[in-house]
Amino acid sequence: MKQKNKIKKIARDDNDKLIKKGYFTVITGPCAIESREQLEASAKIISDLGLIYMRGGAYKPRTSPYSFQGLKEEGLKYLKEMSEKYGLKTVTEVTDTKNVEKVADYADVLQIGTRNMSNFALLAKVGKVAGKKNKIVILKRGWASSIKEWLLAVEYITSEGNVEVVLCERGIRTFETSTRFTLDISAVPVIKKLSKLPIIIDPSHAVGQSDLVIPVSRAAVAVGADGILVESHIDPSKALSDGQQQLNEKELLDLMKQLEKVASAIGKKIR
Ligand code: PEP
Ligand code: MN
Repeated sequence: MKQKNKIKKIARDDNDKLIKKGYFTVITGPCAIESREQLEASAKIISDLGLIYMRGGAYKPRTSPYSFQGLKEEGLKYLKEMSEKYGLKTVTEVTDTKNVEKVADYADVLQIGTRNMSNFALLAKVGKVAGKKNKIVILKRGWASSIKEWLLAVEYITSEGNVEVVLCERGIRTFETSTRFTLDISAVPVIKKLSKLPIIIDPSHAVGQSDLVIPVSRAAVAVGADGILVESHIDPSKALSDGQQQLNEKELLDLMKQLEKVASAIGKKIR
């Protein structure tokens, strides 16, 4: 695939860290795990690209209770299976204190979503479990939270365990309606100034439309973010959640090519 699309396979490194100095980490995969077949097709694409991390939601915190809520433990099982089969590390969301142990048994990175940034009981539980089981935590910014509140939320996690926390800027609520949320790109240099924490950008949930994801991702590299968490799906038109913002395989390849150019301009490599 990489040959015919003229994209060179990135040399896999087996460094466990989600973030590595001099590198820009691309975490991609579907919004939700929908079936074994769907996840396997994504895993194959991600592995062929030479990427290390795959995302996929098993517990989906949907705005409407009538929307697809995820495959839950069945989804976690597929995630683990594909992680082993394709040698990928996995990122998935944890939504409830009751499921933290279970999610940590299946995944490498525990994601706390925007709706739960201020769920202090969940933050503490994730800190405890991630510390004990040596898991990385991605903490998304609450869509109505200040950077100060976000950094204090980190401390609810780190005060419970020695955990590697990666921040994720995913857009905040403003009066602007032309994108799903408003990406606060300046959060990246602000975080770099205020803390030593790594920060990635989620362009997908920020803009909410697939055609805007690539330009915003280029900006993420240029502004000095440590990576992106970007949604991709084998057939976005059939996705059970967030279909309008997920990249298809062709768009994902295009994204990779464009990111490599920007990364090389600032002396970084994509992984
Ligand atoms: C997600 O990444 O699957 C997700 C639900 O994102 P957010 O918490 O940013 O809405
Ligand atoms: Mn989504």
